[in-house]
Amino acid sequence: MATVELKNVNKVYDGGVHAVKHANITIQDKEFVVLVGPSGCGKTTTLRMVAGLEDISSGELYIDGKLVNDVPPKDRDIAMVFQNYALYPHMTVFDNMAFGLKIRKYDKEEIQKRVDEAAEILEIKELLERRPKQLSGGQRQRVAVGRAIVRHPKVFLFDEPLSNLDAKLRVQMRAEISSLHTRLQATMIYVTHDQVEAMTMGDKIVVMKDGVIQQIGDPLTLYNKPVNRFVAGFMGSPPMNFMNVEVKEEGGKIVIDEGTFKLNVEGKNAEAIKPYVGKSMVFGYRAEDLVYSDKAVDGKSMAVTVGVIEPLGAETHVYGSTEKHQMIARVDPHITFNVGDTAHFKPDMEKVIFFDLETDD
Ligand code: ADP
Ligand code: MG
Repeated sequence: MATVELKNVNKVYDGGVHAVKHANITIQDKEFVVLVGPSGCGKTTTLRMVAGLEDISSGELYIDGKLVNDVPPKDRDIAMVFQNYALYPHMTVFDNMAFGLKIRKYDKEEIQKRVDEAAEILEIKELLERRPKQLSGGQRQRVAVGRAIVRHPKVFLFDEPLSNLDAKLRVQMRAEISSLHTRLQATMIYVTHDQVEAMTMGDKIVVMKDGVIQQIGDPLTLYNKPVNRFVAGFMGSPPMNFMNVEVKEEGGKIVIDEGTFKLNVEGKNAEAIKPYVGKSMVFGYRAEDLVYSDKAVDGKSMAVTVGVIEPLGAETHVYGSTEKHQMIARVDPHITFNVGDTAHFKPDMEKVIFFDLETDD
């Protein structure tokens, strides 16, 4: 059993950087929670506060319902995997994995048993006598994870553990860490700047920006119901398209006017943006929520000039532009486009999102 709860947690570093602002996060037992956001947004600081490696400036941290603000790291029963692996270069893999147990005075047999068990899980049994410099990046990464596993901690913390690996290995290790979570049934908090990692691994995702939590939710909620423009633009690849539009009422209908095209808005969205008639809004739509049309459809399609075409095999990304905006469409690879063509796309108006220009919400 291990729950982790941050209540109104703040971190102000000496020198005044307010790195984490009023963080409230509840992590359930056995949950895999990902903290994601751009570099410098406070992910590592948050993780280090949970580990006890960084003091909490104000607020409360509970592990299993117990206030642990003043509990030293070694008594928190937490293991952390660092981005640079932090292996001891002069020690063998076995000794690197055993080290944490030795200093905690476990007996030899227990240490042997736990290292063997972790090596088995991670498929590194044949590497136990090697030293870190005799290992590939992926193998080192496994050893770093192994060192955490042998501790049988209540909570695992991962700080960008895959960012030093090449793309292919990263995808493989991503799946391995997910299956490790299933196998160990432990609470895990995982930090990354990579939204694809966040989406694919997290039961729950915490999106941060400038020390402030923007939204907490499961992957599809963040993707389909982002609370603001930052979350909408950060989650998903290619990123969501944004256009500044004027909201107008014409002939009793709500329309948005981009300057080069107009779209009719109906249903829920029409109600929602009605108060903005006469004002500007940000119109957001995902690259896959566009239907190609071979001709213009009044009030339903936008005309763009095709710039770059990226055939990816399973899909094609088409970069288009109007006089005012850029956009990306994700289209069927069987449709042929040529640079300079005018292409017509119909956004799925049920799925588009509108944001207030000032607040970005
Ligand atoms: P992330 O892991 O999301 O990239 P960090 O938690 O490392 O972000 O950093 C958050 C903010 O705190 C940044 O502005 C960073 O410069 C600052 N910061 C991090 N560590 C320290 C420190 N030891 N002293 C002062 N400022 C720090
Ligand atoms: Mg970091």
